[in-house]
Amino acid sequence: MPKALRAALLRFYDEHARDLPWRRTRDPYAIWVSEIMLQQTRVDTVRRYYDRFLERFPTTTALARASEDQVLSAWSGLGYYRRARLLHAGVREVVASYGGQVPADAQARRKLPGIGRYTAGAIGSIAFDRPEPIVDGNVARVLCRVHAIESPLGRADTEALLWQHAGELAKGPRPGALNQALMELGATLCSKRSPRCEQCPLQRSCLAHAQGRAQELPVPRKKTPPKAVQWVAVAVLDDTRQSVVLSRGQSALFGGLWNLPMREGSDADAAKQLLTELGVAARLSRQPLGRLEHLLTHRRLQVTLFGAKLSQLPTLPTLRLLPASGLADARTQVGVSTLTRKALAQVFRT
Ligand code: SF4
Repeated sequence: MPKALRAALLRFYDEHARDLPWRRTRDPYAIWVSEIMLQQTRVDTVRRYYDRFLERFPTTTALARASEDQVLSAWSGLGYYRRARLLHAGVREVVASYGGQVPADAQARRKLPGIGRYTAGAIGSIAFDRPEPIVDGNVARVLCRVHAIESPLGRADTEALLWQHAGELAKGPRPGALNQALMELGATLCSKRSPRCEQCPLQRSCLAHAQGRAQELPVPRKKTPPKAVQWVAVAVLDDTRQSVVLSRGQSALFGGLWNLPMREGSDADAAKQLLTELGVAARLSRQPLGRLEHLLTHRRLQVTLFGAKLSQLPTLPTLRLLPASGLADARTQVGVSTLTRKALAQVFRT
């Protein structure tokens, strides 16, 4: 069966693969960047960032030399900033230990920061043409259907079985194209809600299709809804109302990005305490400027926004007074979180 599946997948890929910028290269660094960007982000969004990021950091050496601020600024708007920091750390390791060349050896690749089994397999198969499997959401859906796997996604036995099937498929000619064909099929024909089995190259081998159960599989993992959390944020402006205080490193949720000062809480007392904790002397308006909601992977932040007038700012590397104009723009040179951009847009509308 793997042989027939493999042949059908490669034919499908050769005839129908979408022309995506990262498919025009075998450079392991560029493929690494694309794979990290594509995690939890739509292809159309990544298209807008990928070329720009590589123009700014065309090689491992260029990215390794960049500051965290520069990297986060180029990533700003893509979200999940931990990915950018890990990519940066991984690339620095490649420059320090492998002369800037992404290692062809799978074990060495797997030891790099931010490279898990999936990313290692994607780089190994696409850039180095090695028979390394990959399993992402799209591949898992296709394999669960083809083999009629009934155990839920995310469970250890299901994952082991999926990697085993993917491993068998990757052992053959053109493993990079084969892996991309699986992902492509999952992203196009074998979609979550309405699989187009009548057009699918795997139709004859697919057990879920034969059993009329394509839409029932895979069995989803149990999801916990994002937890609602109340936060306060304070826009501390200087006398001219042109510059605003931003802080960094207050919450692990935003990694190294610059933000309006913020913390858990819902009222003016929490906002006041926040300024005291940061050592920022400012006159707080107790009446909120507005409210906004921001969804992160596991949390729904309900933010009450306050305004304040700056009296004195301590000299600390984690605090900056920055011109507000342009900060709400995703192309700014400073890595600012999307939540802070949304809040600043509200502040300067009021
Ligand atoms: S036949 Fe249908 S369910 Fe099976 S892999 Fe193809 S699109 Fe998916």
